[in-house]
Amino acid sequence: MSGSNCILVTGGTGFIGSNFVLDWMGAGPTTSGKPTSDTGIINLDLLTYAGNPANLAAIEGRPGYTLVHGDICDATLVAETLDRYQPKAIVHFAAESHVDRSIVGPEAFLKTNIDGTFTLLNAARSYYERLTGEKKENFRFLHVSTDEVYGTLGPHDPAFHEKTPYAPNSPYAASKASSDHLVRAWVHTYKLPCIITNCSNNYGPFQFPEKLIPLMITHALNGKPLPVYGDGQQIRDWLYVSDHASALVAVLERGRIGETYNVGGGNQRSNLAVVETICALLDELRPDSKFAPHSQLITYVKDRPGHDRRYAIDARKIESELGWTASESFETGLRKTVEWYLANPGWIENVTSGAYQQWVQKNYGDRTGIAP
Ligand code: NAD
Repeated sequence: MSGSNCILVTGGTGFIGSNFVLDWMGAGPTTSGKPTSDTGIINLDLLTYAGNPANLAAIEGRPGYTLVHGDICDATLVAETLDRYQPKAIVHFAAESHVDRSIVGPEAFLKTNIDGTFTLLNAARSYYERLTGEKKENFRFLHVSTDEVYGTLGPHDPAFHEKTPYAPNSPYAASKASSDHLVRAWVHTYKLPCIITNCSNNYGPFQFPEKLIPLMITHALNGKPLPVYGDGQQIRDWLYVSDHASALVAVLERGRIGETYNVGGGNQRSNLAVVETICALLDELRPDSKFAPHSQLITYVKDRPGHDRRYAIDARKIESELGWTASESFETGLRKTVEWYLANPGWIENVTSGAYQQWVQKNYGDRTGIAP
């Protein structure tokens, strides 16, 4: 795609990015099929283990969608991509995102989440300074971040709000907090028109089965133990991924420059309760499974070091200011999610066997850059 009727998305092949891109183009698995926008998408993605091209199979080859295979840490490529496609906005998802991986190997998190965000901000600044007129006025850099930057809550603490002090506890959270601070500095120092969102835990289709919900579903389907950390009483505030995507669209369209918006669905659940609900749904949807009742597979394992006890989001700012609300309750969203995994055994097999990585290697190898 050439011309400038597009936005640049980074990390658009990952879990949230692919749901955002599919919803944007009217091809989401659980949405109406009505596109959010007729603006095209350029997706800059390194296709790491978390970037599975199968997530975007529904739009592959469609006019209006272009993949640029590459690293957000590659300053030359980022600058070339901006110059070539002249996007109206940037939505920055690309990150290393799994807390457990950040504990055993924090380096990649510092590189992509901090250096990568810095590289993108620098290139965006140079691009923005050369824009003129309406395009300059309307340009936005939307930084997609997490509630984990706020640290952990006690059982009776009020939910995180936009003024809650940062207190990240894991290498992942610290790297995302650093990236948030960089974005804030680029707004204040260089007047780059950025907005930050801090969202709670997402779930839904296309989530890599290392994260709690898809891990439990895929293990349960195969009769494998369902590993619950510690006492399973850690609380997360769950949001269905399409609701996150619609919040990002609202922020992109109506959010105020330099502001932060917390995004959440008001669904606090303990990890154990989530796993038990998944088991109950599988018992209902797969009554003949030889593994039913699936709750017999629950196994308690040693807790994650530094495991945050509770997250909860106060989303009143985005709700009152931008008129956004989550449309999916946890019960309906989780049912849709379990049904999606049951209906897509090929996707699970492709991911768990690593076949998608062989495909990426064969089709892209180490070649990065804009296709000629
Ligand atoms: P993910 O791990 O599923 O996907 C990350 C994507 O980024 C992949 O497509 C990967 O290939 C790409 N990527 C990684 N390193 C890259 C690099 N150096 N250059 C270019 N692309 C690269 O992540 P996700 O769960 O979809 O999360 C997306 C964003 O949302 C992240 O910034 C994350 O911090 C944030 N977030 C996630 C959650 C959640 O519950 N998953 C909640 C709140 C915020």
